[in-house]
Amino acid sequence: MTIKIEKKIKGYQVVKPEDKAAPIAAAPEKKAAEPRQAEIIQMHESVERPESLVGSTFKIKSPLFEHALYVTINDIVLNQGTPHEQRRPFEIFINSKNMDHFQWIVALTRILSAVFRKGGDVTFIVEELKAVFDPRGGYFKAGGVYMPSIVAEIGAVIEQHMKNIGLIHDPEMDEAQKKLIAEKRAAYEAASAGKKAAEVASNTESNASGFPPGATLCAKCNTQALVLMDGCQTCLNCGYSKCG
Ligand SMILES: [Zn+2]
Repeated sequence: MTIKIEKKIKGYQVVKPEDKAAPIAAAPEKKAAEPRQAEIIQMHESVERPESLVGSTFKIKSPLFEHALYVTINDIVLNQGTPHEQRRPFEIFINSKNMDHFQWIVALTRILSAVFRKGGDVTFIVEELKAVFDPRGGYFKAGGVYMPSIVAEIGAVIEQHMKNIGLIHDPEMDEAQKKLIAEKRAAYEAASAGKKAAEVASNTESNASGFPPGATLCAKCNTQALVLMDGCQTCLNCGYSKCG
């Protein structure tokens, strides 16, 4: 079969055996879907960028960087106005006055944007980025959350964005667990207040994250909220306990 190409080639796709039945010119997103759901568009490399996208910009200020980073994530809305409406990240840009890190930032954003457009489950990149450690050491953000690197904080920003658009759902803490944490916290505060009753009342101050002073870093939720209770390290933020 010979087809004369009269227009400029903008992109191409290899025809797979299962596509043979369909005409070559069929839109790729229609090929992938079931016949009954042919109108549902899934994220796919060939989904064209609309003229305008909705997005959010996050500011990252790290002691490791002289200037702030501005992370912009733009989303595409698929199947708008249908029950299958879905907002998905489409591209990411990072801007900074600091040009020292320009090359790897450009490389990272290009690869991340390509992953977003590839489709499928893209939430895995959050864990990949958050697991990156800076050999020079991390830093604490306001709120007492430990960031092992600037890359990890970019991961945290993407996670926040994905939560905002409903792509990632927080594991809901059940009422019983919330109550347990509140009780532990009250017990801890009562105990430390008792110990220091004779001292001047400066012991009620909490640390930057709102947890008791002297609380250490919880390895599970990366928050300075780990206190010693009944001889057991207990996190007042996520409820983690070394003794189970
Ligand atoms: Zn914790």
